[in-house]
Amino acid sequence: MTANPSTKTYKNFINGVWTDSVTGQTYPVFNPAHTADIVGHFQSSIPQDAENAVDSAYEASKEWAKMPAPQRGAILYRALGIMERRSRELAEAITIEEGKPIADAIGEVKRAMNIIEYAAGEGRRLFGYTTPSELPDTVAYTIKRPIGVVALITPWNFPLAIPAWKLAPCLIAGNTVIYKPASSTPLSAVKLVEVFEEAGLPTGVLNLVTGPGGSVGNTLIEDPRVGGISFTGSTEIGTQISTRASELLKKVQCEMGGKNAAIILKDADLDKAVSGVVSGAFGSTGQRCTATSRVIVEEAIYDDFMSLLIKQTAALSIGDGMNEKNDIAPLSSQNQINTVLEYIGIGTEEGAKLKYGGNQLRDGEFSEGYYVQPTIFEDVKSDMRIAQEEIFGPVLTVFRASNAKDAIKINNNVQFGLSSSIYTQNLVKAHEYINTAQTGMVHVNAPTLGGEVHLPFGGLGASGTGQREQGIEGFEFFSETVTVYIDHSSGAKERSRFI
Ligand code: NAP
Repeated sequence: MTANPSTKTYKNFINGVWTDSVTGQTYPVFNPAHTADIVGHFQSSIPQDAENAVDSAYEASKEWAKMPAPQRGAILYRALGIMERRSRELAEAITIEEGKPIADAIGEVKRAMNIIEYAAGEGRRLFGYTTPSELPDTVAYTIKRPIGVVALITPWNFPLAIPAWKLAPCLIAGNTVIYKPASSTPLSAVKLVEVFEEAGLPTGVLNLVTGPGGSVGNTLIEDPRVGGISFTGSTEIGTQISTRASELLKKVQCEMGGKNAAIILKDADLDKAVSGVVSGAFGSTGQRCTATSRVIVEEAIYDDFMSLLIKQTAALSIGDGMNEKNDIAPLSSQNQINTVLEYIGIGTEEGAKLKYGGNQLRDGEFSEGYYVQPTIFEDVKSDMRIAQEEIFGPVLTVFRASNAKDAIKINNNVQFGLSSSIYTQNLVKAHEYINTAQTGMVHVNAPTLGGEVHLPFGGLGASGTGQREQGIEGFEFFSETVTVYIDHSSGAKERSRFI
């Protein structure tokens, strides 16, 4: 795609119509592998656009809530078929706007499809429960009801899968949506909405507003008709949103940053551990919330581990994500490269040893994009900023541990608590780790990455607040539980004197 004024302009989707923002202003999005290439122009929306989207979602919520959940599920099944048909196009949209290798983008599309399939089936299982009442001739049970209108605010690093894993359970639970994607990755958002439009979602149920989080996102949070906010992004913004939404007594869930560690004990299968750490640290160019950004290695195998780690890292090929042979693609924006280079500088100043990489790549094919070498620091201490702060790029920090207890202590010595892993053959040590690691997801003999859509996903501490996403918990967030008591006796009855 070359930069030219005729590059397509994409619109907001409000009340079933693709619409210009009220000001008519747009902004360009560039391809991070070829920064002169424009991916498209997108609506630079203002608060009025967000309010129009809330009007639409609010109006549509009355009928959508009445549609039986299995029928809502049927629409999701249709969306699944459309995604299957358009899967290559969706993957390419991810790579040209976010930068990640096309194989990772194909995996992301698959992940989005998995959640839609899972959520569609859950339309037949939005269970409440029944229990004996303490009173005679009384039936007591719970039902699930939608929240109403929900705002979904999403980041750029998984521009299709994260919106899909919020949208699918949100719709099945009977809510209508205003979807505010990250400003740098709106193309995947437009395509996701097109899929649901084609699948026959009723008018106004799903509304898309692109534009700056500070104004559009904030309007959605403040609007009294928006009952729930599901956010994924940085801890800084998530904390602000959680605080404000709580003041407004709204339902809110925030999935935020990570500083995930892999622990390698001396009895680990070393080949497995090294390949898990390399894919965890450098896959998707390290721009995953679950990326391995720390590795904690037991002293006895430290040297062996490091030499294998360097060897495998050096074998990674770097370049345009559209070229299938590349393992590492560009960072997604100028901001990202600035941040990553700043942290590489900070690590060096703090006294960590730069063991591999550390440079921006600017020559030849790299001159057009935001490329940085995969980077490894060793002799990292827990009080360094590179040990504590989320870098969100292909930078791995390596720690030495004297034993398993020491390793778990280092693992837990950060404010984040999203994901972690341990490589060991020892069941006792594996369980000690499972029971004490301060992360919402723990992996044994597997990388810190990912998860499956029918299991909860999310973190502790600065990594997450509110109910988990995905799995059954994902539906809990998007529903209100209502308790029902039915007295089917005749005549007056002695009532409880409590509450
Ligand atoms: P971000 O800067 O916090 O932005 C996330 C979203 O919030 C974007 O849509 C952004 O819009 C919007 N936003 C910004 N300011 C806002 C405000 N004041 N009010 C309402 N919305 C606002 O995060 P990011 O850079 O896109 O994403 C990277 C971060 O996401 C990393 O920290 C990563 O760890 C985290 N992440 C976490 C998970 C998880 O599940 N735990 C998954 C993926 C990513 P604009 O784009 O217009 O600014």
